[in-house]
Amino acid sequence: MTTAKTTGTPALTHGVRAEAAIDLAALRENLAALGARTDAALMAVVKADAYGHGALPCAREAVAAGVRWLGTATPEEALALRAAGIRPEQARILCWLWTPGGPWAQALRSHVDVSVSGRWALDELLAAVRETGVPGRVHLKADTGLGRNGCQPHDWPELVAAALRAQAEGLIEVVGLWSHFAAADEPGHPSVQVQLDGFASAVAHAEAQGVRPEVRHLANSPATLLLPQSHYDLVRPGLAMYGLSPVPDIGTPADFGLRPVMSLTARLALVKTVPGGHGVSYGHHYTTPGDTTLGLVPVGYADGIPRHASNTGPVQISGKWHTVAGRVAMDQFVVDLGGDTPPVGEEVLLFGSGERGEPTAEDWGRACGTLSYEIVTRIGSRVPRRYVGAGDGSGL
Ligand SMILES: *Cc1c(COP(=O)(O)O)cnc(C)c1O
Repeated sequence: MTTAKTTGTPALTHGVRAEAAIDLAALRENLAALGARTDAALMAVVKADAYGHGALPCAREAVAAGVRWLGTATPEEALALRAAGIRPEQARILCWLWTPGGPWAQALRSHVDVSVSGRWALDELLAAVRETGVPGRVHLKADTGLGRNGCQPHDWPELVAAALRAQAEGLIEVVGLWSHFAAADEPGHPSVQVQLDGFASAVAHAEAQGVRPEVRHLANSPATLLLPQSHYDLVRPGLAMYGLSPVPDIGTPADFGLRPVMSLTARLALVKTVPGGHGVSYGHHYTTPGDTTLGLVPVGYADGIPRHASNTGPVQISGKWHTVAGRVAMDQFVVDLGGDTPPVGEEVLLFGSGERGEPTAEDWGRACGTLSYEIVTRIGSRVPRRYVGAGDGSGL
């Protein structure tokens, strides 16, 4: 990879209430670290606005770094990347969450690969191929045990046969065979081996019938990190590329050579002295234990700060950790500064890489009874993203 312009995380932009800094150098390094773990190609999963990091800047950075596959959940997410100028010869884009009446024709015209889990989807796709005259690139998805999307084993032979008939007519090309894990983040979970075996049989059946896939793919982030036998031709890491550990009980990001990409910072909007026994925020679920100082942090659940962080979310101010005092409101929350008097306007580090001693998205996930996945993904559109460390695009 190129020598990373490691910028570290910059200070909050002057005058800004809150912002999420997105360290694209860390993103590149994470992609390189993931790439070094496998002989398979990488798909950068940029669904859900790249887990809150910004789909287009992250997709562009990944492509500039040499990644040739992008993954989205919805077709609209895939189409937005094409509309923004990511061309088919730069990157294949696969989208996998279709509903009846979806934008099949636009996907075909935009050269977006589509996932098909059942006959209804194949039928709608074939109608759109006949309408547009553009053949489809299809990834057939097997349900090997997740029990979510994907084709059940007993329907697989029929789906494969129908796809091969359409391929023989020149309407589609079956370019991928794929599936998704239920518990790759729990090594030794009995479903893991069942799914590996199920995928091997689904692939063997399709190949015996004549499917010649470009890519067979199964591995998400935990499988990319922990299960090399699942890598096949392509791995689909999402969370890990954003520098977070999908298996925090097994390894920190640093243990896997990863660095968190997003840092969320706000600016103290008010610092004031209050007497003991003072209720704080809606419902008074916190009462000051004695004379103290309170700091007002101007972000709330409208910005994606979970209400479950009430009385538990950690922040760092002037080098010290404090805890959310009382309820997180729509636009703001309060911390008990315990008598400290940082200046109004002081930076509040909600989460980041941890390199400055600040909490991480993992810490917030633990505090809120959820995953780091949810913490970063839900950071709302009211929080501006600031991109730092963009590369020169000369490749991994
Ligand atoms: C979200 C998703 C991924 C990436 O999952 P991570 O655990 O974030 O790596 C891969 N494949 C599919 C089908 C997904 O929906």
